[in-house]
Amino acid sequence: MDTNAYTAQFLEKLIQKDPAQRVFHQAVQEVVSTLTPVLQQNPKYIKERILERITEPERTIIFRVPWQDDKGEIHVNRGFRVQYNSALGPYKGGMRFHATVNQDVLKFLGFEQVFKNSLTTLPLGGGKGGSDFDTRGKTDSEVMRFCHSFINELYHHIGYHTDIPAGDLGCGAREIGYMFGQYKKLTNDFTGAFTGKKPNWGGSLLRPEATGYGVAYFAQEMLRHKGDSLEGKTCIISGAGNVGIYTMEKLTQLGAKVVGLMDYDGSIYDEHGIDEERLAYLKDLVFVRRGSLKEYDKKFPGAHFRPGKKTWDIPCDYAFPTACENELDGQDAQLLINNGCKGVCEGSNMPCTPEAIERIKAAKLLYSPGKASNAGGVAVSGLEMTQNSMRVYWTREEVEKYLQRIMNSIHQNCLEAAAMYGMPGDYMAGANIFGFKKVADAMIDQGLV
Ligand code: GLU
Repeated sequence: MDTNAYTAQFLEKLIQKDPAQRVFHQAVQEVVSTLTPVLQQNPKYIKERILERITEPERTIIFRVPWQDDKGEIHVNRGFRVQYNSALGPYKGGMRFHATVNQDVLKFLGFEQVFKNSLTTLPLGGGKGGSDFDTRGKTDSEVMRFCHSFINELYHHIGYHTDIPAGDLGCGAREIGYMFGQYKKLTNDFTGAFTGKKPNWGGSLLRPEATGYGVAYFAQEMLRHKGDSLEGKTCIISGAGNVGIYTMEKLTQLGAKVVGLMDYDGSIYDEHGIDEERLAYLKDLVFVRRGSLKEYDKKFPGAHFRPGKKTWDIPCDYAFPTACENELDGQDAQLLINNGCKGVCEGSNMPCTPEAIERIKAAKLLYSPGKASNAGGVAVSGLEMTQNSMRVYWTREEVEKYLQRIMNSIHQNCLEAAAMYGMPGDYMAGANIFGFKKVADAMIDQGLV
């Protein structure tokens, strides 16, 4: 059968099997759309049914999470862990605690994670988990009770050599702390079964900054490859969370000027650009006070807060979506293009819709997919695991040197893989091909398991 007919038939069956899992289909479709030349030149991947195997999680755990709020009311949430692929190492990936979490979202994120982790070249399989529990508006003690209940079930299924969760949306060092505490209590074992721990009890320095710093380093590499740099470039960012704030910090350190940022309430446009004072204010607002960008223009009157508005209409050289999936659609992409934007570098997982990607590519903007440019977070998680095994702590400088080296090698590997299969300069194709081949070859080596 012709390769295109095979992939079309494969996708049709995938959709038929779980018709409601729309974001999962979107993630698979994006990967498969770039694999035709790889399948043509390596018929073993078709014979071994790698597409069929790599899209099916090895195991999915779904469980009840009952917990009590501060008034004594009982609530029930649903917990998940999708253990996607362990061909390259133990399952590794974050936990998302947000009202929108369901099996579809976690399958999409887990599938992406398999490729991302492969790209880091570290020995990490892929997985993802979480719950439809929303940490926003909950007290510390409510979050603690929820996390303990969550781990009362999940501890059976995770572990240092099996599956190592970390953070994601709604799950930071506080939640990792509560989950780790309960895991340790139940297993009587102090091992690095989680990453994103606080540095005073096993965490790696620079893990909070790692995803955002990695995004900025990846952008720097893309520009360097074109003989350019970030110096003086105007940038806009979307999500004012962990990834967004640290992308902003590193972009600024590398000489760029960040003028736009967004959160749940709206966006800010600050022509002055984020400097040290503004960055310190934003870190306190977001990380300490868990406040809203609504307050920003009261402190910096030259800036504008635009209620309910995204950042994408703000003129810029480079755009960095760092919030969540499908946050940048075809119309947003068109706005960027019309305003002279030269590139989009993804910090969140699958932020651009298929239509946005089509427009960005057609207009020949630079484009890097999240699985390549946001891999710095999980890469430093991998370094946290190494430090835990060695029972040592590395300095910030040491971790940052590794991070930068890993981001550069991901960039290089994407370019080489894309060129090898006739799509030079296409980071999306390169990331998919490099990520896929490494996992597929390991799966073939390990036989039908
Ligand atoms: N949630 C992050 C990601 O999307 C980090 C995962 C990890 O550190 O294991 O890559």
